[in-house]
Amino acid sequence: MKAFEKNIRKVEPYVPGEQPWQTVIKLNTNENPYPPAPGVAQVLHTMDADRFKLYPDPTAGELVKALADYYDVSEEQVFVGVGSDDVLSMCFLTFFNSEKPVLFPDITYSFYKVWANLYRIPYECCPVDENFRIVKEDYFRENGGIIFPNPNAPTGLYLELCEVEEIIAHNRDVIVIVDEAYIDFAGKSALELIEKYDNLIVVQTFSKARSMAGMRIGYAISNPLLIQYLNDAKYSFNSYTMSQAAIACGVEAVKDKEYFENGIRKIINTREWAKKELGRLGFTCLDSEANFIFATHPKYDIKKMYEALKNEAKIYVRYWGSERIEQYIRITVGTKDEMDALLGFLEGYTQK
Ligand SMILES: *Cc1c(COP(=O)(O)O)cnc(C)c1O
Repeated sequence: MKAFEKNIRKVEPYVPGEQPWQTVIKLNTNENPYPPAPGVAQVLHTMDADRFKLYPDPTAGELVKALADYYDVSEEQVFVGVGSDDVLSMCFLTFFNSEKPVLFPDITYSFYKVWANLYRIPYECCPVDENFRIVKEDYFRENGGIIFPNPNAPTGLYLELCEVEEIIAHNRDVIVIVDEAYIDFAGKSALELIEKYDNLIVVQTFSKARSMAGMRIGYAISNPLLIQYLNDAKYSFNSYTMSQAAIACGVEAVKDKEYFENGIRKIINTREWAKKELGRLGFTCLDSEANFIFATHPKYDIKKMYEALKNEAKIYVRYWGSERIEQYIRITVGTKDEMDALLGFLEGYTQK
């Protein structure tokens, strides 16, 4: 081994879902099957490339303002970044600097562990119960900070806001981050608790309900003090995180509330219908409130089914094979046609 090896930061990276470029049915990374709001295409078509010779606004002011108006908070309460992965990573760096362990569920977004390791933050995982539910009492103990998604991923289970509040209220000495990547498909957001709890940060994204995973826009909403700390960390890292195109497109997407709400309704309807159909084929589905379905089948090896879907039908779903979820796949809710293709294949598969 070379001498310099010992001074290199070695990390185990996050493994994203596959991004095949051939025509396949892609139900593996929770993207939205519908296009972004029409205003987004319009703004792209009218954009003057000459603008790109200049750096973007480092504050992404227009986008911050659009989000502040939409959520009825002040601009000092909004932080934006290159997808919520960027925002969450910045939150880990900024807020999780205790010797005590940061807490998050054992079955959850696998990036949390990656950031904790990257930044050398101690952490402990709180096992979700046998029904994959987050147990709030597990978080009522000394810790260095808390993060969990609501709804949780990959289970899709939503934790009622009163339970989220209990976790925040029991942890006033540390920062609690609620990762609401899928909240638009679910119940109430923790945003309404921002004024009441100065230790709360809510993180959301344009990647799921707003159909803009490829544009990379995420944001955090909190009180001005915590947002200031995030901005200080960001400006110590890279001042120009959001491209001009992302800022302009993001603003357009936020403007079109009606399109946004219709899109969510379509996905929820398809989700509920697909859950029933999967049930008819003998699958057990968790009661997802996100844009995906976490499912298992008592009679089939789910890994083999995942491979058959991919190789025989060119339908991609997500499979991890990790502890406690070896027998589960996660299916993103696509269009009705995409789900029909999936269900058609599975119907044949379960009759074999
Ligand atoms: C998709 C997802 C994110 C990150 O999305 P970005 O595309 O980086 O905004 C964050 N948290 C969870 C739980 C997710 O599922």
